Amino acid sequence: MSSIPVRAPYIEPTKLGHKFHTTVDVLRLDEVHPVVSGNKLFKLQGYLEEAKVQGRKTLVTMGGAYSNHILAVAAAAQLEGFHSLGLTRGEKPTPLSPTLTDAVALHMELRFIARHLYREKDMRQMLSPADKSNDHYFIPEGGYGRTGARGAATIMDIPCARDYDGIIAAVGSGTTLAGLVLGGADHQTITGIPVLKGAHSLEAEIRNLLPPERHEKFSLIEGYHFGGYAKHTPLLLDFMNQLYLETGVPTDFVYTGKLFYAVNDLLAKGFWPAGSRLLVVHSGGLQGNRSLAKGTLIF
Ligand SMILES: *Cc1c(COP(=O)(O)O)cnc(C)c1O
Repeated sequence: MSSIPVRAPYIEPTKLGHKFHTTVDVLRLDEVHPVVSGNKLFKLQGYLEEAKVQGRKTLVTMGGAYSNHILAVAAAAQLEGFHSLGLTRGEKPTPLSPTLTDAVALHMELRFIARHLYREKDMRQMLSPADKSNDHYFIPEGGYGRTGARGAATIMDIPCARDYDGIIAAVGSGTTLAGLVLGGADHQTITGIPVLKGAHSLEAEIRNLLPPERHEKFSLIEGYHFGGYAKHTPLLLDFMNQLYLETGVPTDFVYTGKLFYAVNDLLAKGFWPAGSRLLVVHSGGLQGNRSLAKGTLIF
């Protein structure tokens, strides 16, 4: 795997807002690397620095078989000279998912954790007493935490990002959105599109990463999860193909397909005033599309 990033992030115009007299540009974080793309390396920055300062040798994290986060940790560990240990839910699948295959190729050690134990989310409990815990640096699932948000805030340092009226991003753990709120300018509205169903505590979890004066600086728009996390429908997949034909922007079915669907729908509903200049954060994740049947997507 080549080094990261292979390409600096850039902003690209689209015609999505033309009908509505709105500017819709895309921040192409999906282009930083073919496999380790998007917001994940931004979120990891602070954790990597802390692990170095503390002299830890092994990065430990947890995630599912298609997790962009697991793969990003594997890649970051290799680049920065750490070992990496990935704790994954359930039985070892045969064959391994493309994501886990890539993680192993990046020298990540995988452990498959019984579901009841995984559910507790206590990574220390998932390790055996024989593991040398002094070496371990634990990165929370999905990179959730203030350290992760601080890293994600640097997304807003990308030239021109603070010039837009509105920033829109997909929301999983909310760490990236918190980072956009931290790094954004005061005049900007930050809108998050949750990709999980019924994430009641999400708003509180995002606030938890922010100082009180920023608690009201973002909004979440529900109703675009398409059945829940990593769920999809023919409508969503058709939209992703159509979007690609119209804009040349490829999306993933877990996060950014739902994000762009929401942007398109909200534009039609007049959510943003005419004349708005909007920046959609393409957070990457395209590697996850490899779990779809071949031919489902045209890109
Ligand atoms: C992880 C991920 C997100 C969500 O990021 P959070 O910080 O967890 O909200 C969005 N898009 C892609 C492509 C991701 O991989």
